[in-house]
Amino acid sequence: MSQTLSSADVAHFIGGAATAGASTRRQPVYNPATGEVARQVLLGSHADVDAAVAAARAAFPAWSELPPIRRGRVMFKFLELVNQHKDTLARMITLEHGKVFTDAQGEVSRGIDIIEFACGIPQLLKGDYTEQVSTGIDNWTMRQPLGVVAGITPFNFPVMVPMWMFPVAIAAGNTFVLKPSPTDPSASLFMGELLKQAGLPDGVYNVVQGDKEAVDALLEHPDVKAVSFVGSTPIANYIYETGAHHGKRVQALGGAKNHMVVMPDADIDQVVDALIGAGYGSAGERCMAISVAVLVGDVADKVIPKLLERAKSLKVLDGMNLAAEMGPIVTGAAHARISGYIDAGVKEGAQLLLDGRDFDGKAAGPGCDKGFWLGGTLFDHVTPDMKIYKEEIFGPVLSCVRVPDFAQAVQLINDHEFGNGVSCFTRDGNVAREFSRRIQVGMVGINVPIPVPMAWHGFGGWKRSLFGDMHAYGEEGVRFYTKQKSVMQRWPESIGKGAEFVMPTAK
Ligand code: NAD
Repeated sequence: MSQTLSSADVAHFIGGAATAGASTRRQPVYNPATGEVARQVLLGSHADVDAAVAAARAAFPAWSELPPIRRGRVMFKFLELVNQHKDTLARMITLEHGKVFTDAQGEVSRGIDIIEFACGIPQLLKGDYTEQVSTGIDNWTMRQPLGVVAGITPFNFPVMVPMWMFPVAIAAGNTFVLKPSPTDPSASLFMGELLKQAGLPDGVYNVVQGDKEAVDALLEHPDVKAVSFVGSTPIANYIYETGAHHGKRVQALGGAKNHMVVMPDADIDQVVDALIGAGYGSAGERCMAISVAVLVGDVADKVIPKLLERAKSLKVLDGMNLAAEMGPIVTGAAHARISGYIDAGVKEGAQLLLDGRDFDGKAAGPGCDKGFWLGGTLFDHVTPDMKIYKEEIFGPVLSCVRVPDFAQAVQLINDHEFGNGVSCFTRDGNVAREFSRRIQVGMVGINVPIPVPMAWHGFGGWKRSLFGDMHAYGEEGVRFYTKQKSVMQRWPESIGKGAEFVMPTAK
């Protein structure tokens, strides 16, 4: 039975319209700066997932038949609209996630890169062709869309991460069901409205808000052919195993513990800027945030005093204040988890140089006293056996580990269970070259702290940071959302030698 939608609800988007569907459960959506409940997001049921998948399935035949250049033109129009409404999207992100407005604008820009990439879909779908593989026979490959595909996304990039998925999937001819994070769901609906304005037929892009119930319904649904997931490692592992069990193609990107190696010859001011931006930007709630500084040889004594001074003066303010460098933590639960890690670090004997738990929300701006605030935290003398080293904290906590030489820095990183991003700061080209060759991590920066690959290169970690074979977006994304078909062709004049029982070979 269809439920009624209140103006405070964040709805589903099914078959081109906002709807409450059959949802009876809701969850509050907070403004993390003030701690106030801003709206309620619906939590989708099995019936809502069934309705969204049915809408996507119904839209698939016509959408997949449309020539790729015409699907690309819808993406062009969507690109124009997203550019036009960039600040509206950025504001939605800041008000529900908390990250500072300029960073939210940057998030939207990185999503726009993927839409631009998807506009080139005719070129990306071009197949291979070999004339005369045998006398009178030609062979070619083409890539065809899968059908209904699903995306399940995390709270920390409510616009960019869905845009890693749906522009490529849709341009390739699939229809899409997004299950966004319930923490900051509003942008998913606005993107649906912009896609509709761009001329995307109803049912090609759908959103089911929700939690585990909606995720499980997608994983089990026989009409969902592939699932892209981005989130924490335990859930990524679950999605990969459950999706594969139900016969789906799955790419599941997980958590991270990103290290930045600082060699003794590095430029210290550049290193400090890089660690501050990559450690505390977006309150450390980025899957590519640097959470461990690996200080080689005697460089620690040069880096730490400057790092501490700079971390103490971080401008922790309401994200809508344009002077802000860092905003609040996303939820009260995340705040409690991060504080717990700081407690654990102290207990295990790491040296706490700066304690973010001391930060008072009142200093962040009017109305912020009940928000989810932490200041930047800095630990020195962290060792590999400590919980704060081994586990993903996902907050503004930077740990410094001291190692004697380059070889031990590489070994430390290669021994870690995660392998998402990594960075090395040095002026020595050979060190840089050896580092990028030897390191067991999917995305490497040389004097670049957050090496998020561009739209046409694809994004993905190694080890327990990614389950599946294909990275997100780029050409790997196109491969993930299409299946290859090989056609071998011969015309009647060349047939007539009778049945052949031997494996065909070139003649
Ligand atoms: P999360 O794993 O809690 O949630 C991700 C998605 O899974 C959400 O849509 C959520 O509703 C759903 N989900 C949560 N629990 C579930 C369950 N038990 N069963 C089924 N579905 C469930 O992650 P999050 O807290 O939203 O995001 C932060 C995490 O995402 C961090 O670990 C971060 O490293 C990771 N992340 C990774 C990348 C990457 O590219 N590797 C990018 C962004 C974020």
